[in-house]
Amino acid sequence: MPVAANLFERRRTRPVRCGNVIIGGDAKIAIQTMAKTDTRDTKSTIQEIQKAVSEGADIVRVAVVDHEAARAIKDIKKEVSCPVVADIHFDYELAIEALDFGADKVRVNPGNIGGKNKLLKVAMKAQSMGAAIRLGINSGSLEKDILEAYRTPSAEAMVESAKRHISYLEENEIENVVISLKSSSVRETIRGYTLMASYTDWPFHIGVTEAGPGYIGITKSSVGIGTLLSLGIGDTIRVSLTGPATDEVKTAKLILQSLDLGHFGPDIISCPTCGRTQVDLLPIVQQVEEGLKEIRKPIKVAIMGCPVNGPGEAKEADVGIACGRDGGILFSYGKPIKKVSNDEIVDVLLEFVRSYPSSPEGVN
Ligand code: SF4
Repeated sequence: MPVAANLFERRRTRPVRCGNVIIGGDAKIAIQTMAKTDTRDTKSTIQEIQKAVSEGADIVRVAVVDHEAARAIKDIKKEVSCPVVADIHFDYELAIEALDFGADKVRVNPGNIGGKNKLLKVAMKAQSMGAAIRLGINSGSLEKDILEAYRTPSAEAMVESAKRHISYLEENEIENVVISLKSSSVRETIRGYTLMASYTDWPFHIGVTEAGPGYIGITKSSVGIGTLLSLGIGDTIRVSLTGPATDEVKTAKLILQSLDLGHFGPDIISCPTCGRTQVDLLPIVQQVEEGLKEIRKPIKVAIMGCPVNGPGEAKEADVGIACGRDGGILFSYGKPIKKVSNDEIVDVLLEFVRSYPSSPEGVN
């Protein structure tokens, strides 16, 4: 299918079932993460998956490094509510074993799974079990002949590899396929998925691989995933951080919420402060952010540093405070409601949010 001409017009994809989650079609964009624990340590892996799910993960992947890890999937599945994906490198038999033990999807890297026949054995097994398969093309492990032809692990080289392996699957009438083309280069990631969108209507798992820690990883992931989503590309997203899985999920939610592609809780709008700022704004914003942590209402809360431009700058907010030297003005959609003393600002805002309608219909 061609890439949507209009921004945010979602690319049409086939729906693929992954346990109790649909990837692609009209389904919401699913959030994925990967457990950082050793899968053989089932207790820790279960705890990590449960934490990720309570943060908002829809699907969690686990590394399958040996037979013990493949077997652990059976026990993990009993204790978690989300689909579990087995991540396989090199050994196709581990993929088959993981499927036998209940994996809802297997992620295989065609560049290291050992050739067409082994890939097809895994795909046919997945099909027979009602599970999905992700062709996870990675710029770091492309086939030798493709690397020789393209010289660098470019977007074009990744697309060539993906096309080759998709044709193997389609010739054998394999369904339930998800595609990813990941590079640690944000540019090549965007180029790869954008090029690939013209060749297939299988849904895409998108993300920037090995994005790094903290600000670096969050920025690269947000630019890469955000750009693709704005082009309508992406059916499931994974933010890949050197950090806890829950941070990956939090970042994924904020990316989706920033683009109005999902609503997971309050959206804080706060001004950057400037020479007109009349209060120490940062601690106020931090206290409000902390107080809103457990609230899931899709409400926009603005906190502005001066009464001159504050309400005007946050016209779209459901509720806001424009702070001043002698107290703040509570406003809603840019219109003043009442004056609030400086020491009441945080409590008044939080109280307003708590009493606000919780359904999206109740919020304009
Ligand atoms: S809202 Fe006021 S204090 Fe904040 S950036 Fe704008 S002008 Fe400056």
